[in-house]
Amino acid sequence: MHTIEFQKRGLPHVHILLWLKPQHKIKTGDDIDKHISAELPDPKLYPKLYEAVSSYMIHGPCGPIDPKSVCMVDGKCSKHFPKKFQNCTAIDDDGFPIYKRRTTKITVTKKGVPLDNGFVVPYNPKLLMKYQGHINVEYCNKSNAIKYLFKYINKGPGRVNVQISKDGGGPDKSQVQDEIKQYYDSRYLTPCEAAWRTFKFDIHDRWPPVVRLGFHLPNQQRVLFKESDDLEEVVQKFSKKETKFLAWMKANKRYPEGRNLTYAEFPSKFVYREGAHEWVPRKRGLSLERVQYIAPGMGEVYYIRVLLTRQRGGDSFESIRAVK
Ligand SMILES: [Zn+2]
Repeated sequence: MHTIEFQKRGLPHVHILLWLKPQHKIKTGDDIDKHISAELPDPKLYPKLYEAVSSYMIHGPCGPIDPKSVCMVDGKCSKHFPKKFQNCTAIDDDGFPIYKRRTTKITVTKKGVPLDNGFVVPYNPKLLMKYQGHINVEYCNKSNAIKYLFKYINKGPGRVNVQISKDGGGPDKSQVQDEIKQYYDSRYLTPCEAAWRTFKFDIHDRWPPVVRLGFHLPNQQRVLFKESDDLEEVVQKFSKKETKFLAWMKANKRYPEGRNLTYAEFPSKFVYREGAHEWVPRKRGLSLERVQYIAPGMGEVYYIRVLLTRQRGGDSFESIRAVK
């Protein structure tokens, strides 16, 4: 998934979160080293990469060298640079990576100050060489990282209230207070963001789609009707209401190839056709399914959910609760 953010200085930047397939999962420090580096390469061996890292992936200088740097908060670098030297990459007990930053003699000079591996922002050499720009690549195995990205979508644009007055002086007490004007809700955006919005470019995107799978107890399908509707007609109309869940049972009767799947796994091989209320074998594409959450206090319907996470190929309510 990705989200695009516009910073105050205007240029868009993207945050991308990738999930790896099980066979590609990064499990050890050595695995991380295959994709991510936080060191200055040897300029004799890799002159172009050294050039790119020096140009795009160096943080600072900051700290005592440059206390006025934008990253400095209360006399400290808010991004915790320079980082400690480290002989090999490791993953700590909380799952956070500590990248390899060896003590070498290789430095890059910024604002007259030589900076070492402690100031390198983690990068992927291939991406950096291809795109020639600041691309920070990090290992992350925390599910809450996704929350961090959604914060960007939801936090809204930067806002500021500015007033331009004729006399250019301070607040004039004799002036009438215009309370309506004080409630103006304004936003500012840069030409980059304005253009992005005008062209209707995506601000975020996700793949694969996630669909909610509902379920219910026998004859307890959820129905919608108006207060003014005739109740007998409503009962008549909905007495055999089809649902995704009931259609799953029907599909299990019909297609043997789905019987080794749980309800949640079923959409990996089948697609639900809304209009026809039926599951048909999937020809292409992929979607992830989330079985509707039920609080344990809800009783019977909660236990159906528990069974659905285990039972395969259910073709009736009885078969879902049967010990096979
Ligand atoms: Zn800093």
